[in-house]
Amino acid sequence: MEDTLRRLYELQKIDTNLDELEEMKGDLPLQVKELEDQYAQRKTELANLEATMKQSFAERDLADSDIVSLREKVERYKSQQLEVRNNKEYDALTREMDSAVASIAKLEKEMQDLENKGTTARTDIETVKLQIVELEKTLEEKRVALAEVSKETDAEENEYRKARTRAVEGIKRPLLETYQRIRDSKRGGKAIVGLVRGACGGCFNLVPPQKVLELRQSKRIYMCEHCGRILVPSQIAEGKETAAQ
Ligand SMILES: [Zn+2]
Repeated sequence: MEDTLRRLYELQKIDTNLDELEEMKGDLPLQVKELEDQYAQRKTELANLEATMKQSFAERDLADSDIVSLREKVERYKSQQLEVRNNKEYDALTREMDSAVASIAKLEKEMQDLENKGTTARTDIETVKLQIVELEKTLEEKRVALAEVSKETDAEENEYRKARTRAVEGIKRPLLETYQRIRDSKRGGKAIVGLVRGACGGCFNLVPPQKVLELRQSKRIYMCEHCGRILVPSQIAEGKETAAQ
């Protein structure tokens, strides 16, 4: 168990160092991520607007050619009316003509709506394109800044990652999960703390003397009953090789 406690303590030290490296990057990684999301959203928006514009103008052209052929029909009815032989034929042509004229009016209205829709989309496309250019510029700047910081921290980070892999090797999965859970719930990410003069090194509440004794023997995992952090005896926290019995 002492070996496990040592590994846990070592793991905590490594993770704290990794946290510090991450802190050096500030909120740059988050900023880059958010900008990437925005960029992807704008791209989708642009594609949708382009599709809307294309479809609106295509439908407008279709309505336009329908109007042209309806107008030709009306002209044809007019000339046919000059040649009818009775009122019945004349009235039938009038009805056809009225219906065609009504269709033309309806199509003209539709055409105007489609024209407006297409034009609005075209204006929006220009706006979104400008936004995309701006986003690309900002994103590039942030990426460069992040790369600069990462260049400084990458080597160190790699070392810690390797050390971390070695440290977790001897720790059982459920314990690792507990460690992670405590870590996530604590400000500063400290899940493992040393016993400091009989008190928890995390919340500084006193640990009962009987528990302090048990802890020194490192026979089991002991959690602070106040803050829930895992306690390790001071000989481990101070890096001493042999346990004081
Ligand atoms: Zn505590």
